[in-house]
This record gives sequence, C-alpha cells and structure tokens, in this order.
Amino acid sequence: MAELFYDEDADLSIIQGRKVAVLGYGSQGHAHALSLRDSGVDVRVGLPEGSKSRVKAEEQGLRVVTPAEAAAEADVIMVLVPDPIQAKVYEDAIKGNLKDGDALFFGHGFNIRFDLIKPPANVDVCMVAPKGPGHLVRRQYEEGRGVPCIVAVEQDASGNAFALALSYAKGIGGTRAGVIKTTFTEETETDLFGEQAVLCGGASALVKAGFETLVEAGYQPEIAYFECLHELKLIVDLMYEGGLEKMRWSISETAEWGDYVTGPRIITDATKAEMKKVLGEIQDGTFARNWINEYNAGLPKYNEYKKADSNHLLETTGKELRKLMSWVDDEA
Ligand code: NAD
Ligand code: MG
Ligand code: MG
Ligand code: MG
Ligand code: MG
Ligand code: MG
Repeated sequence: MAELFYDEDADLSIIQGRKVAVLGYGSQGHAHALSLRDSGVDVRVGLPEGSKSRVKAEEQGLRVVTPAEAAAEADVIMVLVPDPIQAKVYEDAIKGNLKDGDALFFGHGFNIRFDLIKPPANVDVCMVAPKGPGHLVRRQYEEGRGVPCIVAVEQDASGNAFALALSYAKGIGGTRAGVIKTTFTEETETDLFGEQAVLCGGASALVKAGFETLVEAGYQPEIAYFECLHELKLIVDLMYEGGLEKMRWSISETAEWGDYVTGPRIITDATKAEMKKVLGEIQDGTFARNWINEYNAGLPKYNEYKKADSNHLLETTGKELRKLMSWVDDEA
C-alpha cells in the first residue's frame, strides 16, 4: 500500500523558514509561486531578461529576478522550466549558486532520472509533482482545496529532505488532497508511460482511428466527431467519479455488452506487447535520448506531426462544431 500524507503530517513552518526560488512562470511555475506566497513563504521568481512571463508575474505581485539571481538568493530552488532546457538552466544559472544545505526541487524527475543534471552531494534533491495541470493546482488552492501531489527524495543531504518536501507540498495545497511518496525513477517512468501509451498518445490515436473508420465508411464527419471525440469526456467523467463500474452503470446494457466483447478486439495482446516495448524504451533511456535529440535539432519532426494533425478532418470538423457549442470553452 502506498504511503499517504495529509495536512497534519506536514509542517508548513519548515518552508516558511526558507527562501524559495521558482524558476519559470508557466503552467506549474505560476501556481507554485502564487500559492507558496499566499501560504506565507518568501518567494522570488527567476526568469530571463525579456521573458514574456515577467510582466505577468510582476502584475501578480511577485518579485522577479534573473534565474541566476534567484538561485543565488534562495536556499530552495524549484526548477519549473521546460524539461528539455532544464540541464542548460542548471549549468548557466543554478550550479554555481548551490551552497551547502540548499535544496534543488523538481516538478518532474526527467533530468535527474536520465542523468542530464548531476547535483553535488551537499544539497537535498526533492520532487513535488502535482498530478494535475498547473492552472487547476492554482484554482484548487484558491478554493481551499488541492491537487494530489507525489513527492520524492533523490538525495537527502540535510537529513530532513522529506519533511521539507512535504512542507513545500503543503504550501501549494497538495496535502489537502493527499500526497503519495514515490521515487524519481517511478515518477518519471510512469509519467512518461501514462502520457504516451494511455492519456495522450493512446487516447488520441484511438479517437482518430475510430473517426477515420466511420468517415471512410461514408458517415458524416460531424456525427463521427460526436461519437468518437465529444462523448469521450462524458465517459471519462464517469470513470473518474466511480471507475469502470460507474461508467458501465450509466451506459445502456447494449453499450456495456459491446464494451466487454469489442474492447479486447481493439486493444489486443499485440497492443499490450507494444506497450511493454514502449515502457522498455522509456526505462532504458531510448525515448529520452531521442526526444532531447529532436529538441536540440529544432523540433523538425515534432512540427511536422503537429501540422499534419491540425489539418486532420477530425480537427477541422471539431473547430466548426465547437463554435456552435458556446459553453464548451468555459468548462476547461
Ligand atoms: P511551461 O512550458 O508551461 O512553462 C515554462 C516556463 O519556463 C515559462 O514561464 C518560460 O517563460 C520559462 N522559461 C523558459 N526558458 C527559461 C529560462 N531559460 N529560465 C527561466 N525560465 C525559463 O512548463 P510547465 O508545463 O509548467 O512544466 C514545468 C515543469 O513542470 C516540467 O518539469 C514539467 O514536466 C512539470 N510538470 C508540468 C505539469 C503541467 O501541468 N504542465 C504537470 C506536472 C509536472
Ligand atoms: Mg506546457
Ligand atoms: Mg503526467
Ligand atoms: Mg509528463
Ligand atoms: Mg454514442
Ligand atoms: Mg450510445
């Protein structure tokens, strides 16, 4: 059974006694910086001169300095810049500013797990990773709730790294919802696998294949869009509330029968064998190496895939249909 931690297990005064630098002010960065500030923590945001995020952070009442200045001032440095540039930010702005007893924090384990960043032995290395998008992390905090977090310690130089990480998680509302203890390896490998095989890659490929099957058989794209993409949200909401059982309780018996007999014909043993291969490539570093190479080459294939999908009939059909559903945008 996983180890769970709540508000009463975490001591907010630990992080309140530190100086925190949040590097980056995107999805996660803004949520961490604002919520820590509202939890009474001394926060500065580190952003390069000329970064577009600077104005936003300042308007929201935060002090903004360069990443190097932030790292020099602080004794807890949370790295919330995009994963592929973290190693460069570490070399340029963080490495030379680490002192005995400082703590280096991450929101995802990628750079530590794949040895792209190698911190010195005299600092704590921790992770606080909310299991939700940054905008939800902030909204839940403001509403007195929180997004569950997973927390890990890679290196415990101080002997108190876990208590510090729990305290940080409390500062962003995580312990209100519950925090699970993990390792950098488990978080990184499961996060990459989940987004590739199920949540993002798997789900979008399933939706596209279903849509194409109906359209190629001569059905209207608008009908295919509703059946294969739009209704997915309703199904996923039911799964989220009560698992597969609640979803199956709500759908018709006909749909439930089709679920049992056809699901395994779509996601077959061959699919699962491929999932195992995907996981193997994550674990042995092949995926990370390929992705960093693609990033450093200026994202040629990434941009090609992005363009191809934005011209796909599924997307052009959806764009038109969603204009007619004025409420859809507000729900996100
Ligand atoms: P993002 O792309 O939304 O934002 C990145 C921020 O970094 C921007 O404010 C950008 O201006 C800033 N930045 C770019 N270059 C910089 C530099 N050289 N120095 C300082 N700042 C710089 O990023 P994100 O999605 O919030 O991801 C940040 C981290 O959080 C990643 O490790 C990611 O895996 C992790 N994470 C993200 C989410 C999410 O909800 N998006 C969820 C869990 C974990
Ligand atoms: Mg992003
Ligand atoms: Mg994830
Ligand atoms: Mg991820
Ligand atoms: Mg239907
Ligand atoms: Mg139906």
